[in-house]
Amino acid sequence: IDMAEETVDAEGREKAQTRVNLNIVFVTAEAAPYSKTGGLGDVCGSLPIVLAARGHRVMVVSPRYLHSCPEDKIFDNALDLDCHIKVQCFGGAQEVSFFHEYREGVDWVFVDNPSYHRPGNPYGDSHGAFGDNQFRFTLLCHAACEAPLVLPLGGYNYGEKCLFLANDWHAGLVPVLLAAKYRPHGVYKDARSLLVIHNLAHQGVEPAVKYKNFGLPPEWYGALEWVFPTWARTHALDTGEAVNVLKGAIVTADRILTVSKGYSWEITTVEGGYGLHELLSSRRSVLDGIINGIDVSEWDPSSDEHIADHYSVDDLSGKVQCKIALQKELGLPMRPDCPLIGFIGRLDYQKGIDLIRWAVPDLMEDDVQFVMLGSGDPLYEEWMRATESTYRDKFRGWVGFNVPISHRITAGCDILLMPSRFEPCGLNQLYAMRYGTVPVVHCTGGLRDTVQTFNPYAEEGFGEGTGWTFSPLSKESMLAALRLAVKTYRDHKLSWEGIMKRGMERDYTWENAAIQYEEVFEWAFIDQP
Ligand code: ADP
Repeated sequence: IDMAEETVDAEGREKAQTRVNLNIVFVTAEAAPYSKTGGLGDVCGSLPIVLAARGHRVMVVSPRYLHSCPEDKIFDNALDLDCHIKVQCFGGAQEVSFFHEYREGVDWVFVDNPSYHRPGNPYGDSHGAFGDNQFRFTLLCHAACEAPLVLPLGGYNYGEKCLFLANDWHAGLVPVLLAAKYRPHGVYKDARSLLVIHNLAHQGVEPAVKYKNFGLPPEWYGALEWVFPTWARTHALDTGEAVNVLKGAIVTADRILTVSKGYSWEITTVEGGYGLHELLSSRRSVLDGIINGIDVSEWDPSSDEHIADHYSVDDLSGKVQCKIALQKELGLPMRPDCPLIGFIGRLDYQKGIDLIRWAVPDLMEDDVQFVMLGSGDPLYEEWMRATESTYRDKFRGWVGFNVPISHRITAGCDILLMPSRFEPCGLNQLYAMRYGTVPVVHCTGGLRDTVQTFNPYAEEGFGEGTGWTFSPLSKESMLAALRLAVKTYRDHKLSWEGIMKRGMERDYTWENAAIQYEEVFEWAFIDQP
């Protein structure tokens, strides 16, 4: 561990204090570009690189998913370290091995096991979630705890004094293993663990009898013990006894972070806590939130390779070209004056797709165009296809996961709609603001923290705000916000430009987020509660 001489604070001012350079181990089910289904992949693909550039030694441990895409060569540069280890779980010694790629200052470590080699995304395929996910992610956690001890990476051993960043339930056994398997034997005494919650809705819950599979000592059962409420039990003899991996992580992690401050509060409430609110409230003194950054080189309207024309806050003229090109690509009437509304995201209850579905017949009565890009629930995929044939001149539904198209929608639309029921951080509203596309969002979690509702009277009439937030989550309030945005777009061009420019000038760089992460790291090491 080295001490770096100077650093800067969240506002970019130089601080006179020293910064500690750490050995950091990210443990995650996804890391872009190797694997990604959503924001978790983005965070674990970007933050490690920024932390490494700031002087930390950073390793990212994730599975080596093969065959997830037939043409995929993304793991080709990761070399076999020829290090095979056996971990005790699921009734025996399970063998895993490690692959390694050193890229952009980061040690990307891939855990290999046949259970990661199958078509689909990291969690499942078209038939649903894989039945053995508990096995796959238990292996990941055991392997990640061994990695700093057994792997020489470029001649360097991370050793015991590490900071583990366990991301979501898939990595939730890491803090539990440190506490239950290693520390009682004097290993990892000086290590710390930080649980990062990207989405509390997924917790890794299994019937209680499965506890024996985790490879944890029996006396640690209480850390994962979980009882379903009566209404969630399936039959009269069901006692509701279960084990919950995320709960175990919340109990044992040294620090807990979520991906926005708003969400870190919401998860301590009955409505947002998914049954864990009381436990999370009891850990409030170690719980905080840091809003995600975005990859500003990938998402830059002045150089984006996927879009038709380039533009910036000083010269917005290219944006309308992006809009016309998008309309052309989608087969919509090429009308630069017509407000173009976009949606990008998983077709999931969380994202409020049901609300969009109810609102579309009303919205389509207005003079607007609407494009949706998303994949997920087959019901909504089918609805998007059907809606396209009903409103040929106004609606397009692109079913699939397509990064270039997501860039073109972000650049070409005037408005981005995000009616998420809950949103731990949300990235699309950040990308949208950077591209001068005005977000209209449900007032929740990270959306509330990042989108400021337009107020035309503030700042001596110059106005403030970067979009619109609406509440409650209803079709009426969503339509009202959308219609207000559309009216402002049509009738108040100067105000609209002000909203666009204020969004484009917001700083959501990872450097900014990394400085805040470092403060939590130092707090974890220095001020043990
Ligand atoms: P979540 O992690 O809940 O899915 P986020 O807003 O945090 O939501 O992150 C979603 C990420 O996935 C963003 O980078 C978004 O652009 C991307 N994304 C989601 N759906 C699609 C899609 N159909 N095609 C391309 N990118 C998508």
